[in-house]
Amino acid sequence: MSVEKLIFEKGAPGRRASNMPAMDVPTETIEDLVPAHLLRQEEAPLPEVSEIEVVRHYTHLSQRNFGVDTGFYPLGSCTMKYNPKVNEDMAGLPGFAHIHPLQPAEQVQGAIQLVYELEQYLAEIAGMTRVTLQPSAGAHGELTGLMLIKAYHQSRGEGHRHLVLIPDNAHGTNPASATLAGYKSVELKSDKATGGVDMDHLRQILDAHANDIAAIMLTNPNTLGLFEANILEIARLVHEAGGQLYYDGANANAVMGITRPGDMGFDVVHFNLHKTCSTPHGGGGPGAGPIGVKEHLVPFLPGPLPAKDEQGRYYWQEVGPQSIGKVRANLGNFGVLVRAYTYIRSNGPDGLRHVSESAILNANYVKHGLSEDYEIYYPHICQHEFVATARRQKEESGVTAMDIAKRLLDFGMYAPTTYFPLIVPEALMIEPTETETRETLDTFIAVMKQIAEEARTNPELVKTAPHTTVVGRLDQALAARKPNLRWTPGQEVTH
Ligand SMILES: *Cc1c(COP(=O)(O)O)cnc(C)c1O
Repeated sequence: MSVEKLIFEKGAPGRRASNMPAMDVPTETIEDLVPAHLLRQEEAPLPEVSEIEVVRHYTHLSQRNFGVDTGFYPLGSCTMKYNPKVNEDMAGLPGFAHIHPLQPAEQVQGAIQLVYELEQYLAEIAGMTRVTLQPSAGAHGELTGLMLIKAYHQSRGEGHRHLVLIPDNAHGTNPASATLAGYKSVELKSDKATGGVDMDHLRQILDAHANDIAAIMLTNPNTLGLFEANILEIARLVHEAGGQLYYDGANANAVMGITRPGDMGFDVVHFNLHKTCSTPHGGGGPGAGPIGVKEHLVPFLPGPLPAKDEQGRYYWQEVGPQSIGKVRANLGNFGVLVRAYTYIRSNGPDGLRHVSESAILNANYVKHGLSEDYEIYYPHICQHEFVATARRQKEESGVTAMDIAKRLLDFGMYAPTTYFPLIVPEALMIEPTETETRETLDTFIAVMKQIAEEARTNPELVKTAPHTTVVGRLDQALAARKPNLRWTPGQEVTH
């Protein structure tokens, strides 16, 4: 047996972590209850382990992982801020953690009150009339929002509208959601000088296709971290053409308490509660992507919606015939909603504004700190994130954005988002978030400066990074498409 296998495999036949009383259900009863063909004929080939072996196995696995509790995590657009532990405490309260999604309303008054109030806070933060908490991710919110827009157009006899305008720097989920909703996406160019929407291109498309425009999807600030200065004019033009405005709220960490998508002219907005309202995310979940809508879209919302009667009792209010139907269980991804509610309540309105202001300040601080060694794609004042590029490093010594991202891991820091947005060559998209200390930001800047120096003097060191992590450079495509996550009895372990 290889040394790796000796280290990884644990246990021995018959070993146990607990002392169970002998089974007192007669075997004949089990055979009555479970049809014979469903009964296992042989013991499952599971490891038989003692408690210390289980504890060491999982603790070891957790130490091979990287999370925001381990170190700095400037993964642009993903808002990997610290998740306050009080959120976890609240989500773990038995009255929240142990309820069933289909429990009668009178037994779960507190849970319905929570979603009722959360809906109101989110409507206020975004400047919207009503909110549904059902969608379980940003992308799910996008799909739901586009379905509402579609139902709205159809109700007005305008079901032929089939184009959705999406800027060339948009998140990949935007065109994917448009396609899934049965729409065709049209790429909107961004302005080379400002990084915002190219207004001439927008006017051109609207002139050519006014009657076919269903919606425009924008995030503001955009994925370059720049606030769209022409937003009111964009809203006017798109509305005039009969289209709806969809706000990708993944970047709301820059605007809370400062401005509201509703005031900018948007009709639908999704929140990424797992990002902005700080619930643990990454690796695909869990999440919550509630959407808020203006008055004219309320009749199409999924239902039921939380409501309160005159006696102060909470209940589920059914929605009308125009509703697009349910997109998830009534209580949504409830654990995430409890965390987001706790986050909003513990910050309060002033606190949320302070969150956004600090996120903007931190991003500009890091941008300034890196600007001597790295080219900053748009040097303007940024919002909660900015995009640097390794173009200079690549030209001078062949060191790419990916190499720099990998080298950062050697210093116990996570990598920025790389090669996104697509319009920026060798992109390093950096979002420090508001939860980091000045010292952490200074350390990150110092590390990035050192890597720039290494790229000049010892590029091989950067190109072959990481050197100190548990696993080295993986085949990115294979690691994502064919991840080896399964333990199979008897199989040799590979990384
Ligand atoms: C994260 C993100 C999304 C998608 O959100 P998910 O919750 O991952 O589905 C959409 N748009 C932008 C700009 C994002 O950063």
